[in-house]
Amino acid sequence: MLLGIDDTDSPNGMCTTYLGALIARKLRSSGYFVNNMRLVRLNPNVIWKTRGNAGICIETNAPKEYLFSLACEYVDKYAMFDCENTNPGVVVVETKPPADFYQKALREFCTIEEAEERLNEIGALYKGYKNKRGLIGSLAAVSSVLPDKTYECLSYRYFDKCGTPREFEEDGFFECEKATAPNTWDTVDFKLHKVICIPHGKDPVLYGIRGESPEFVREAAGYLKTEEPEFIQVWETNQGTDAHIIHSRELFEGGSFCFEGVVDSAPETQRGGHVSFGVDGVKCFAFEPTKYFRDAVRELVVGDKVIIYGSYQNGVMNVEKFYLAETASVEKRESPKCPVCGGRMTSAGKGKGYKCRDCSARIREVDEVKRNISVGWYEVPPGSRRHLAKPVCRFG
Ligand code: ATP
Repeated sequence: MLLGIDDTDSPNGMCTTYLGALIARKLRSSGYFVNNMRLVRLNPNVIWKTRGNAGICIETNAPKEYLFSLACEYVDKYAMFDCENTNPGVVVVETKPPADFYQKALREFCTIEEAEERLNEIGALYKGYKNKRGLIGSLAAVSSVLPDKTYECLSYRYFDKCGTPREFEEDGFFECEKATAPNTWDTVDFKLHKVICIPHGKDPVLYGIRGESPEFVREAAGYLKTEEPEFIQVWETNQGTDAHIIHSRELFEGGSFCFEGVVDSAPETQRGGHVSFGVDGVKCFAFEPTKYFRDAVRELVVGDKVIIYGSYQNGVMNVEKFYLAETASVEKRESPKCPVCGGRMTSAGKGKGYKCRDCSARIREVDEVKRNISVGWYEVPPGSRRHLAKPVCRFG
């Protein structure tokens, strides 16, 4: 049996994974197996999300009707119904529905009607609360297939502590990253000397450690010194896999893409610190919150060959990472002095060296500007990374 839940939280509290973890604990204590706990991130560009657009799926041997009424009971009790944008959905199916709905929810936009139509077709037990939008994420979660997967160890606070400052010692998080990276990632940002994996809101999450296997994330959590958590739950996820990325140049609003191209307009820093540049006619941006990523972007020059990854929103690419495949050569603006007579030389044409104006001596080599960037990957800092974006450490 697969249980899907989505859209139970608000900026004022709760988290759908916490609700799912509570249900899993109840199922286990009632003698049922819980085989798989899955946290699925969906299209990061949907406007209705509270934080990271996540839905959950729990696999269990509990009977269908019981599972459905238990899930509804927990949603009734814990969901943040007061918030206009909280529209929970609960779905129970016996077998995995076709994956196309998940693929669409991950990369495009789905309607509530589409979700209901599919749920009726497959004979699911389901309940959509308020405007029923949560049915989209719940159905996507039970329909998900994860060719690449990662894990997150989520530690949850005691419910009555939610809303108070989280208690933790920073050092343990830095030690954890030193000892377990690159098998874990996004725990801290060394460059900004900042702990990344602790949220700041009123939700019950104390921290989340992301990594390649359940063993790595559990081991990593062992380094941390924090307030006593109520419990921890390791989730299987599609985070850090680039599952949302469409490999195409046919960009559409709200999609996330990867395409190869040549820089055709030089980086410019705009008001607000955003850096813009062009690739094959597509306007690309490294926005201010991407912090030191902008330093790498500023080093690009016209002619560089790049592979761009990012979200297409408001007609521009919001760049999440890029691969610099080939650096263009840039001739120094000032021509060298003539090695024969010491006179001033002039360019003999692009890539053809220099010619002396006085004695006609020639130099064949081009005097190039030393580039401060080399072939390789460049990505946004951990704190600005989208949950689905594959960190460079996972490219091997
Ligand atoms: P929560 O912890 O409650 O899941 P969240 O930040 O993950 O918080 P949601 O509250 O789930 O965000 O809000 C996202 C809403 O958008 C949900 O109702 C979900 O069903 C819906 N949704 C998700 N993906 C899509 C999509 N591709 N098209 C349309 N709606 C979507």
